[in-house]
Amino acid sequence: MTPPPTATLFHDVRPFGAPPRDLIAVDGELVAEIPRGAVVERVDGAGRLALPTLVDAHVHPDKTSWGEPWHSRRPAHGIAEYVAGDVELARALPTPVAERALRLMSHAAAQGTRAMRAHADVAPAYGLSGIEGVAEAARKLAGIVDVELVAFPQHGVVRTPGVAELLAEAAASGLVTHIGGIDPAGFDADGGHGGDQLGTVFGLAEKHGLGLDIHLHDRGEQGLAPLRDIAARTRALGLRGRVNVGHAFAVASLPDRALDETADLLAESGVSLTTVALSPATILPFRRLAERGVPVGLGSDGVRDSWSPFGDADMLRRAWLAAWALEARLDEELEACFRLAADGGAELLGLPRSDLRPGSPADFMLVDGECLPQAVVDVPRRDLVVRAGRVVARDGHLV
Ligand SMILES: [Zn+2]
Repeated sequence: MTPPPTATLFHDVRPFGAPPRDLIAVDGELVAEIPRGAVVERVDGAGRLALPTLVDAHVHPDKTSWGEPWHSRRPAHGIAEYVAGDVELARALPTPVAERALRLMSHAAAQGTRAMRAHADVAPAYGLSGIEGVAEAARKLAGIVDVELVAFPQHGVVRTPGVAELLAEAAASGLVTHIGGIDPAGFDADGGHGGDQLGTVFGLAEKHGLGLDIHLHDRGEQGLAPLRDIAARTRALGLRGRVNVGHAFAVASLPDRALDETADLLAESGVSLTTVALSPATILPFRRLAERGVPVGLGSDGVRDSWSPFGDADMLRRAWLAAWALEARLDEELEACFRLAADGGAELLGLPRSDLRPGSPADFMLVDGECLPQAVVDVPRRDLVVRAGRVVARDGHLV
């Protein structure tokens, strides 16, 4: 005899601010009605606003000092000095990567992050300890937050001996889903040594069946030329939909016509972008990019690390930050920033969109609030976070 189906009934909730109704979850999905004979568990929503949970498309859990004693930063200029600060902080922190990453990722999940793409540094200074630590944290959060892991050559592939070998080890380890990269024409230019960062990382991705997620801070032609190169290699290797470029500051500052041409090239090549809403000048024009077929995700980037004292891995607050950076004022502008955090990241990570309708994953959060635009502005406490129909966090903490 098969056991009766179980359903969870979330009573008296308001999806996107609609009138109160019930949400019913069965086997991790929302359904229209309770299956016949089901055992029903009831959760009272008390009239709260229900919103989809969010996806952090770009975060660095290995670098964080979240929950550690306050770290005072020294002035730094250029990537090389920031990288030196990373190494110094990592050596000074008493807590292992796995524990720090778990602390931050648990906090993120309790604020309503359902999935994340985590970058972890791979360099001789750390060996593979960064990816091993984040992978261990991800295992402990299985079923609560889905984690994709990028082996990130923050120290450069060409400029730092030993990184290419470690990346190859990481690619073969089974721990990572993506190979990273960084500024092939600027920070990691070959300087006449004949090194080829993009050749190395695309080669590893192809050999091991992995995706690519490349940091591109360089602006102007120094950023655009590698972007065209990445698009061409993506097409040539048939990696459509598996290659992402993070930051892409060179795209953020393009005038309209050049922006549309670049967007068309990326869309044709199947290359997506991520933005972290660092500032009004660097946030990507994600609505225009999306209209032309380029998926764009939103991320936290570094959280309270050597680069910056800011960040909290709270994706609703990050949506607020994006809205602030874009000087959003209209409801549709505020909603677009939320959708960037919810749907943009889901598309990037290949997850089904959570829209709170039957057939959608039962991934949502309940907050005190009237409507979606107001929640983006107020950033209310996440009273309840539901993952695959199961309550995983209450009042900002995992249960
Ligand atoms: Zn980053």
